[in-house]
Amino acid sequence: MRRFQFWLICLVLVATAQPVRAQERLNVVASFSILGDLAQNVGGDRVNVTTLVGPNGDVHVYTPAPADTKKIADAKLVIVNGLGLEGWMPRLVESSGGKATMVTASKAITPRRLGSDADPHAWQSVANARIYVTNIRDALGVVDPTDAEGYRANAERYLAKLDALDREVRGAIAQIPPAHRKVISTHNAFGYFAAAYGIEFIAPQGVSTESEASARDIAGIITQIRAAKIPAVFLENISDPRLMRRISTETGARIGGTLYSDSLTAENGEAPTYIDMVRHNIKALTSALSD
Ligand code: ZN
Repeated sequence: MRRFQFWLICLVLVATAQPVRAQERLNVVASFSILGDLAQNVGGDRVNVTTLVGPNGDVHVYTPAPADTKKIADAKLVIVNGLGLEGWMPRLVESSGGKATMVTASKAITPRRLGSDADPHAWQSVANARIYVTNIRDALGVVDPTDAEGYRANAERYLAKLDALDREVRGAIAQIPPAHRKVISTHNAFGYFAAAYGIEFIAPQGVSTESEASARDIAGIITQIRAAKIPAVFLENISDPRLMRRISTETGARIGGTLYSDSLTAENGEAPTYIDMVRHNIKALTSALSD
């Protein structure tokens, strides 16, 4: 009996120790998986990061769940991309009581514009991801000044990894013959990548996945693929693959694999972190375009 009591006490201690430790962490909400990963790298074990649009989710067309209101209400910091990506966020913040401190991770980045729309996919250039990280670092330091030094050290380490990643991308692209540096993606998510690294992307869908590609857009892409002899089209984890399969069949351009633009994968997938995502994309591009 005494032994039983001993184990019972141990069990109670173990069960209560965990939540106490978790509560000491700063609650941070990121609007989508890529920001969640950046926030985790900067926050380390000082933060508890919750992501609203999780792995393989489409942030363009997200409908907040009732539980999201509570996540925002409990957060010390809410991280958004901005540039018009999270159109659903203002109402969500309002319904949560509107007290959360918000940071726009793309702050100070000059947006690319397509007509009247800002292109929100700024994170696809690694140099821009550096700016995201410094904005997140500074915001964490403001809401949690006692840990500011820790956030700064984490950010420093992660920024060095991003610098190495940027060099890796440039080295990989240099292997692709310039005439082959053209690809088709489902939606127009790689404009910043294209501008930074010199690969041309053409997409039947615009900068949002909200509206479908028109028959005329698709016919235009097919003409371009044939005229420019574009070798490969790519699928996306957030988009229906049927359109790309059809374009591939009609033009003979092969499916070059999947590019991850707006969403990471789950832990066991090809792109569970931002760095994995960029590495996967350059591998897919170089293997489809090099020969
Ligand atoms: Zn997108």
